[in-house]
Amino acid sequence: MKKHYFAIIKFPMYVSLSLFILALVYFIMALASYHRLGLSGWGTAAYTLLFIILVVLVSSWILILMSTHQKIKPKGLKLYTAWMLVNIYYYLAKWLSKLFLQSKQILQESFLHFNNEIVLTNFNGIHSQKILLLLPHCLQSSECKIRIVNDIIECEECGNCDIAKMKGIVNKYNVKAVVASGGSLARKLIIDTNPDVIIAVACHRDLTDGLRDSWRYPIYAVLNERPKGTCFETTVSTAPIEFAIKKFA
Ligand code: SF4
Repeated sequence: MKKHYFAIIKFPMYVSLSLFILALVYFIMALASYHRLGLSGWGTAAYTLLFIILVVLVSSWILILMSTHQKIKPKGLKLYTAWMLVNIYYYLAKWLSKLFLQSKQILQESFLHFNNEIVLTNFNGIHSQKILLLLPHCLQSSECKIRIVNDIIECEECGNCDIAKMKGIVNKYNVKAVVASGGSLARKLIIDTNPDVIIAVACHRDLTDGLRDSWRYPIYAVLNERPKGTCFETTVSTAPIEFAIKKFA
């Protein structure tokens, strides 16, 4: 339990520490320049600009941290924090985790958990038909005679793979579900269905890339299990999916 908790807080910890290091470097450099030379007009302008950037970075991060517990109402602000999270803070955390020789997968998992907290807090009261369950093609049995393309309605629910369980969820909660065989198709299916919220099932890498690609959409990430190796007959637990649907609907 303790180990799981530390895995989750790694991403916010790395971002906070990166910002602290940046602020420290800034103040050391500013003080050193001032003592050595006094600041010229250009120097003052440059340090003022850097200070403003630092303030924006820190205040936006505080806002994002708050959004894990408190709903952000203005849509523009939601988009701004989503953009900052995937385009700025993710890279700050990645840089620091590399410095600490941490595995990429641990950081990605923590990032996905952190993003899930934000999405759960900020999106609810959504019509079930506006919830999209985005599934990876590798969930399907390699021996299945039916070719599941995009829509899982074709599945005959023989139970040989987890597509049957997903079809059960679709029928139970009346949500939409699509199967994507790659990032480009996933993007197209998202644009075509234009959901209010997405519950995406995939591996660490695909979920992280997908989340950063489609940052305009709120994405709740569910990691699949890979008992037979990467991208082959993967499985997924229904519990986190049902939990998310109940929270969003
Ligand atoms: S559960 Fe559906 S998709 Fe999976 S093997 Fe059976 S018919 Fe094919």
